[in-house]
Amino acid sequence: MDFARTLILAVLCAACLTLAFAQRELSGSAQARQSLDRLNVVGSVLMIAAHPDDENTALLAYLARGRKVRTGYLSLTRGEGGQNLIGAEQGDELGIIRTQELLAARRIDGAEQFFTRAIDFGFTKSPQECFEKWGHDKILSDVVWVIRRFRPDVIILRFSGTPRDGHGQHQASAILGREAFAAAADPKRFPEQLKWVQPWQAKRLMWNPGSFTKEQREEVEKMPNRISVDPGDYDPVLGHSYAEIAGMSRSMHRSQGMGAAERKGSAKDFLITQSGPVATKDIFDGIDLSWNRIPGGAPVGESLAGATRTFDPENPDRIVPLLLKAEKSMAALHDPYVALKQHELSEAIVLCSGLWLDAASDKYAVTPGGSLKFDATALSRDHLAVQVKSVDIEGISPATTKDKFGGVLPFNEPQVYALNTIIPDHQALSQPYWLIEPKQGDTYTIPNQLDIGLPENPPLFEAHFHLRIESDDVEVVRPVAYRYIERAQGELTRPVVVEPPVALQWSQSAILFPNGSAKTVDLLVQANIAKATGKVQIQPPPGWRISSQSGDFHLTASGEQSEVSFEVAPPSNDAQGILSAHAKAGDQTVATSMETINYPHIPTQVLFPPANAKLVRADIRLLAKTIGYVMGAGDEVPQALQQLGADVMLLSADDLAGGNLSRFDAIVTGVRAYNVRADLRANEGRLLDYVKNGGTLVVQYNVADARNPFGGETTLLANIGPYPITTGSERVTVEEAAVQFLNPASPLLHKPNEISAHDFDGWIQERGLYFASKWDDHYQPLFETHDPDQKPQTGITLYTRYGKGAYVFTAFSWFRELPAGVPGAFRIFANLLSAGKTQ
Ligand SMILES: [Zn+2]
Repeated sequence: MDFARTLILAVLCAACLTLAFAQRELSGSAQARQSLDRLNVVGSVLMIAAHPDDENTALLAYLARGRKVRTGYLSLTRGEGGQNLIGAEQGDELGIIRTQELLAARRIDGAEQFFTRAIDFGFTKSPQECFEKWGHDKILSDVVWVIRRFRPDVIILRFSGTPRDGHGQHQASAILGREAFAAAADPKRFPEQLKWVQPWQAKRLMWNPGSFTKEQREEVEKMPNRISVDPGDYDPVLGHSYAEIAGMSRSMHRSQGMGAAERKGSAKDFLITQSGPVATKDIFDGIDLSWNRIPGGAPVGESLAGATRTFDPENPDRIVPLLLKAEKSMAALHDPYVALKQHELSEAIVLCSGLWLDAASDKYAVTPGGSLKFDATALSRDHLAVQVKSVDIEGISPATTKDKFGGVLPFNEPQVYALNTIIPDHQALSQPYWLIEPKQGDTYTIPNQLDIGLPENPPLFEAHFHLRIESDDVEVVRPVAYRYIERAQGELTRPVVVEPPVALQWSQSAILFPNGSAKTVDLLVQANIAKATGKVQIQPPPGWRISSQSGDFHLTASGEQSEVSFEVAPPSNDAQGILSAHAKAGDQTVATSMETINYPHIPTQVLFPPANAKLVRADIRLLAKTIGYVMGAGDEVPQALQQLGADVMLLSADDLAGGNLSRFDAIVTGVRAYNVRADLRANEGRLLDYVKNGGTLVVQYNVADARNPFGGETTLLANIGPYPITTGSERVTVEEAAVQFLNPASPLLHKPNEISAHDFDGWIQERGLYFASKWDDHYQPLFETHDPDQKPQTGITLYTRYGKGAYVFTAFSWFRELPAGVPGAFRIFANLLSAGKTQ
């Protein structure tokens, strides 16, 4: 390849990689070159940590794209317990978003993604708490399982297993990784897995310590048994260094605001051998990464090396005969590694032959009993003799075609084969596999061992193209996806799902009865098919009365919605229970709702939670009747407040800049509103004047982390209150942590609701986060709480009068507790909103 050509390729690839953001891979000769180089390398590395974003993307890109080894990242959890910076999704939904962000990142850095059954239950300082919540052996068995399936030569831990790691889940990932290094090789450990896999001894266990501070860097540089690698190395084929690619990959973690620089220049990383022979020069010291390591593999290696040597980027088809030869030699080998390489080799043959193969369905969703049409397309963009002998579409139901196969593909004219299938009447919905069964505490229930570790559901259908290229047979597999045009983004794909004929959605996931009155509760029925008619039936919990048990729906078009309303009367005393619904549509019974998660950086995701609502009866009084809400990064607090009978209005930039604020009894700022809304920061003074003139301002948590991508430095948050407040980073993660009342006489604890310790019962996930670390003496701290081994925290809620009004800063996690229908949280929050009227 001459120099000018290299440059052109590099420039093209820079564009590809950046465009690659969510859905596209490299293409053309650069991709062919990468896949050839990868074919010549027989080796693998598995990195282990706890969360989406713990992985060292630079090291992953260096290994996968630079060293061309098979590279995996095992994240114990899907990051369900974190905060979402791009929307209101939490828990299961956030886990789905983070899973897809990891997959988007992996498409860029070239690694693969795995998970265990562990759920991120929120921040903890103790690995012991993780083992209690997850079950030590259960998660160890998952780590062992992924190792036995992946068969890594080297395992890299991101953490040390000591308090140096901070988060207890980080520590647990290292402790489990270390144990699994040995256990995976021991046939006496988890012998039930040996039905599918063999024991596996990785050659070496290494630690890649994070060094974010100067002290940590100095500490790492003194560690023994240390080698360095440099992901800052430039790759002329890719047109980037691996550290730059890492910046693109890491920037996929949008729900965590991980947008990262595409770092230029040397960027050293250190690796320390912890078990196995000590590496002195290279991660792979003493490991044969050639085909010679596979018995009988030498001839394969020779053909592949020949192909790579003679590769001509302008005429990639010239090496196809050598690749076909390698394929024949490979077919004679029996080694677990070979199946993977066979797949890579078919892809390399297709690439070098200039073939384009694709399978698309006519819609992205189908109901049980419905039908799908597929277009399997083969396009020959080169002059090799390629025949499509047949296309089989395999999946949840068999596909048939009347089209004739065979004949040599014409040059540059797409050949489209039409196939059809009928979905079985009782086909299960496409729920993400880890959400099908109820959770067991903080782990997912996954009945099928073979599903464990998978990042997402396999595609419902795959197209197998049986080709004859020149005189050899090649099989190529393509997932069936739905292809569509998004006007703002261009051509996209999304996975095909099975959905119910109708989906049922309660107006709120937690429905509050703040007094003894009955309430109208709406169930939204949405049709996914034309002519959906039927009956919904609901089942209230014991002690609750309903006006009727069923209602009819008649929907004519797919996508149409109608509401069925029920009058629900609560019991006279405090009570909670589940209101469930199901629908009969034709001969199908449906008891699920349907949620679609749509963000531009990930393929559209769908999930099907049960059609349940939590009913909560509790006495809650609120004196603020009109509330202005300044939405921040996204939360569902406004809908929750409406349930108390308040009028809630979302405040726009115009409202903040010039609207009449005095009409509101209270104004609330949403989570991280001061971090994400410049218009709010610009109008801090107007909000404080509103308080001075008699209003009530309630400010929820903001972050003051210097690394916060929104530039939320402490100085920016200087005027969130009338007197100085410094936002800190303390949090209380134990949701049962005792809460003390520091000023028992404060009206905020008595009016209009009498608050007691019981109001802190039944909270979920945590008490609060990003407490104030310093504040002016004008403020009165109202509560004290702390985790075990934590200093008492008093910066969680601060109250002051200012002029004629009241100001409250509060870092309890209202954004979790209120939408979840925690009655005590409603009672306390109602008192904060009423503060201006209770003094
Ligand atoms: Zn983490």
